[in-house]
Formats: sequence, structure tokens, C-alpha cells
Amino acid sequence: MAEITMSARALEVAAQCKGFLDVDEGRRLFELARDHSHLGPIVEIGSYCGKSAVYLGNGARAAGGTLVCVDHHRGNEENQRGELYHDPEVYDADAERLDSLPFLRETLRKADLEDTVLVFVARSARAADLWKVPAGMVFIDGGHTQAAADIDYESWAPKVAPGGILAIHDLFPNPAEGGQAPINIYRRALASGDFDELPTTKTLGVLRRR
Ligand code: MG
Repeated sequence: MAEITMSARALEVAAQCKGFLDVDEGRRLFELARDHSHLGPIVEIGSYCGKSAVYLGNGARAAGGTLVCVDHHRGNEENQRGELYHDPEVYDADAERLDSLPFLRETLRKADLEDTVLVFVARSARAADLWKVPAGMVFIDGGHTQAAADIDYESWAPKVAPGGILAIHDLFPNPAEGGQAPINIYRRALASGDFDELPTTKTLGVLRRR
């Protein structure tokens, strides 16, 4: 049987979406979601406008699964006004705050994923407090301060089902190339003894729960 892959249309929606994800990393997310949805829902921490959700959602859908996108949609520390990754289009002037939720919803509509993806507008730890089912995969791509990354790791690593995947975005082994919070939690996960290391794809780290 032929392997199920991303459609050209889905790849185009992802390419057009605002965000910070390499296409090879996206294709890996698709495969991981497709291959682990039988273990439980796929969870994404930090969705922004939905670029990675297109890949994860297509993978979940291919396996008859579900993706849950957790984000407060007020942007991380790097998206705020005056910061490096601020995008004025994602700023709600009336609210005087960032609001990426309308962009996520539009992306999910364009990608025909509204029946596959559940949108959970919340801070990561609050969402985790209510989360009781084993997750087939957790993808952490939230705030990049050490405090935010630690909260995401501590809240969500325990939710990964045995055999399931913990994926972490933005690993930079060389500190000159990027912030160290994501790779620090990746190393914490390895040191815990609960996870085995799978091959990385560019800056995407992938671990499997024992
Ligand atoms: Mg990222």
C-alpha cells in the first residue's frame, strides 16, 4: 500500500501561512502525527497562525486521529511590539494585544482541517491541568524563555503515551545560533530516562517515550 503523504494543496496552505517552520521539519511532523495518532490525540503547544498545525493536522487526519492546538494566542515574548518577530498584522490595536487566533482559524479552514483540529485557547499549564488522556504525540513550540519552556516540558512531557512522541522545536546546539531554552528541555527529557532519542530533522528534536 502506498504511504499516505501531504497533498500539494496542504503543502501550499502551509507555505502561505505566517510562521517559523522549515518544510522538512513540517514533513517530519506530518509523518510523526500520522504514525502515532493510534496512541492518542496529537497535542501542539504554541500554534500561532497554524503553520505547523497544517502538517500535524494532515498527519492526524490521515490516521483518523485528532490534533489539539493549545495557545493563548497573545504571542510569545519574541512576537511582542518592538521585538524581533513582531508582525503588525497580528496585532489587535483595539485590544492593544497580539491576537493570532483569527489567523489560525483561517488556516484551518483553508486546509480543510476544521473537523480534525480542536482549538484550545489557554495557557499551556492551565490546559494541562484539565488534560487526562494519554497523548500520541506532544509537540512543544511555545515560549522560548527558560521559564516558559520549563513549564511546557513539566506540564506536557508526562502526558505522552508509552511509545508516543515528544517533539521539541528550535534546538540550537550552538548557542551562537539561537536561544537555549528548547534544547535545555530536550536534554532534561533525555536525562529523565523516560525517553529515547530519535533522529532530529534540522532544529526539530524527536524523542520516544519508553
Ligand atoms: Mg518554533
